[in-house]
Amino acid sequence: MAPVPFRLSRRGLLAALLAPLLAASSLAAAAQDKVLNLYSARHYQTDEALYANFTKATGIKINRIDADDAGVINRLKAEGAASPADVILLVDAARLTKAAADSMFQPVNSALLQQRIPAYLRDNSDGGGPQWFGFSTRARIIVYNKATVQPGDVDTYQKLADPKNKGKVCTRSGSHPYNLTLFGAMLQHLGPQATEAWLKGLVENMARAPKGGDTDQIKAAASGECQIALANSYYLARLMRSTKPEDVEVVSKIGFVFPNQQSFGTHVNIAGGAVAKHAKHRAEAVAFLEYLSGDEAQRYFADGNNEWPVVASVKVNNPALEAMGKFKVDTLPIADAGKNQAQVQQMLDRVGFK
Ligand code: FE
Repeated sequence: MAPVPFRLSRRGLLAALLAPLLAASSLAAAAQDKVLNLYSARHYQTDEALYANFTKATGIKINRIDADDAGVINRLKAEGAASPADVILLVDAARLTKAAADSMFQPVNSALLQQRIPAYLRDNSDGGGPQWFGFSTRARIIVYNKATVQPGDVDTYQKLADPKNKGKVCTRSGSHPYNLTLFGAMLQHLGPQATEAWLKGLVENMARAPKGGDTDQIKAAASGECQIALANSYYLARLMRSTKPEDVEVVSKIGFVFPNQQSFGTHVNIAGGAVAKHAKHRAEAVAFLEYLSGDEAQRYFADGNNEWPVVASVKVNNPALEAMGKFKVDTLPIADAGKNQAQVQQMLDRVGFK
């Protein structure tokens, strides 16, 4: 009897021939899916651990493109619908609001994100969910020269325009997003007339024309070039943690206040993230934003720049933030402050705030 040859039906043969091909192509698809293209305006050392832990937990590899905020925005604009960007990390609500208005993001409807991130720290526009989420907060504080200014002279933003502080105030450009967002918040609280009068008074109180960044303002307040400065909290925290003698000297000369503790609270801004409008890896992008709201990621994300986590229960072990203490936060929706930026800019032009 002839041996029965090992035979396959035609269907079986086809399947046998195609199987490795199918396996290879679905593997390729899986590998392709396990990637996330991140455009980031952040560059802190703790971010390395942040990204590595995400890849470890999910198998999703992160391709990162670092630029400053303007660089990220310009790149997205130039790439248009062909952009490989999946997730975008930006700093400041004014920039996030503007990018959303320019259709660079897409709505994300995540129960987890809505539960973890307070409503006042995320986008509040209609249509399918928020377009961006805050992941860390920074306070816009007032720093003063201890030799010449009493904390009671500067315990509200309004007092920056008080005639008794004439010739003492210094700030960075009024048009910088940090100031646009603060002034946009003031517009929500005070209304247009009082806000413009306040900005005019602030300009009249300036010790010098706006120049430099927030750290330059803090140093000017310490040196006596001005006496009172507006700055984001992390710039002060950075100086407080520095061991350089010149920084120690600066910190020894200044005090700071969290403004408006008896009224609406101190203005806080955010570093935030969004899913790109043309994201090719949407599920991975949402997973990454959700990961950023987790306890451990919150710690890395905030501490990388001496900021506070948006998830209130998460504690950061940071001596400078510890020393600054707790304060009453302005819980006005940060999106509303950001959306006022065009109106604020018109006011700045009218009152001559450069
Ligand atoms: Fe900054």
